[in-house]
Amino acid sequence: MDMSDAFLIEHALRGTLRRDEPMARHVSWRAGGAARTFYQPADVDDLCAFLRAFAEPQPVLFVGLGSNLLVRDGGLAGAVILTHHALTAIRFENRGQTTFSDEADGVPSRGKRGLSPVFAEAGVPAPHLARFVAKHGGGDAEWMAGVPGTVGGALAMNAGCYGGETWNHVVAVETVDRRGERRRRAKSDYEIGYRHVAPRSAADEWFVGGLFEFGPGDTAQSMARMRELLARRVATQPLSQPNAGSVFRNPPGDHAARLIESCALKGFTIGAAQVSPKHANFIVNLGGASAADIEAVIDHVERTVRAKTGVALIREVRIVGDAR
Ligand SMILES: Cc1cc2nc3c(=O)[nH]c(=O)nc-3n(C[C@H](O)[C@H](O)[C@H](O)COP(=O)(O)OP(=O)(O)OC[C@H]3O[C@@H](n4cnc5c(N)ncnc54)[C@H](O)[C@@H]3O)c2cc1C
Repeated sequence: MDMSDAFLIEHALRGTLRRDEPMARHVSWRAGGAARTFYQPADVDDLCAFLRAFAEPQPVLFVGLGSNLLVRDGGLAGAVILTHHALTAIRFENRGQTTFSDEADGVPSRGKRGLSPVFAEAGVPAPHLARFVAKHGGGDAEWMAGVPGTVGGALAMNAGCYGGETWNHVVAVETVDRRGERRRRAKSDYEIGYRHVAPRSAADEWFVGGLFEFGPGDTAQSMARMRELLARRVATQPLSQPNAGSVFRNPPGDHAARLIESCALKGFTIGAAQVSPKHANFIVNLGGASAADIEAVIDHVERTVRAKTGVALIREVRIVGDAR
């Protein structure tokens, strides 16, 4: 029996615990270092039990599908908690009810008919939530079908595209803190902006799920819209190469991709990391890129765009861990 097994047994944990887990396996850039401790809980109760048991002072990082994340090559000293394939429940808040409700959030809906609120745990992939809503006759979730992250990641990032934004649909969220205590919080407990979400209090919590509301829709039309939006992505984004979507936020009134392209940076390469020739705000891993290669390209793009256009790009991707 190794130390991990002993820890699981001692704390009656039911998930998967690994030491020195390569995070390249869990991030869409397929690059970067290892997490010293890696835990994939069996469910939310098991996650809370792990947080109570993990007494080490190191930080804890929640990871969904790692589609917006880079772990530097020296790795992470703390614990990664993987929600994908772990916190997977999705249901109507009104216990299995799939009919339309006039009172979607318990408040008179001012005549707008929509789907009963949907509760999705943090590890549910956003495209799964989009299809769930469409299948049950809800609308306005189609844009989520193309965001290759989880509900937890979408909540943390306020993910959005094609006019949709995650927090436009949030009624409430469920959170957990470092002591494993769960809370339900109102949307008004958060300050929300473009790719930005912060608790109004000093709360140090993560999302274990979100309660969402969506308007009425038509299943066939929603499915067709999802196919149309996905085709648009295939045409404009380098989806066959490992990437993390848009690296930089769009500056007000402009597009990061336009600025980067105007500096002739398409195709710029360091090691095996390259500014995509297909979409200038994407950096692709050509095969075997290190996190340092990717970060060096990000730094170069930032410096060049600032020097040539005066615009300071703000990173959308999250970079964590230690350099080697
Ligand atoms: C091809 C491609 C296209 C993309 N298109 C879009 C797009 O159109 N719009 C868009 O907004 N994004 C887009 N992205 C970026 C990415 O998919 C989103 O940011 C997504 O919401 C990230 O979810 P994730 O589960 O992968 O998060 P991760 O990458 O795992 O984590 C991202 C951040 O969220 C935090 N986090 C994750 N889970 C939780 C949790 N449960 N509680 C608290 N914090 C948490 C992490 O700690 C990290 O800081 C794209 C990415 C790719 C690869």
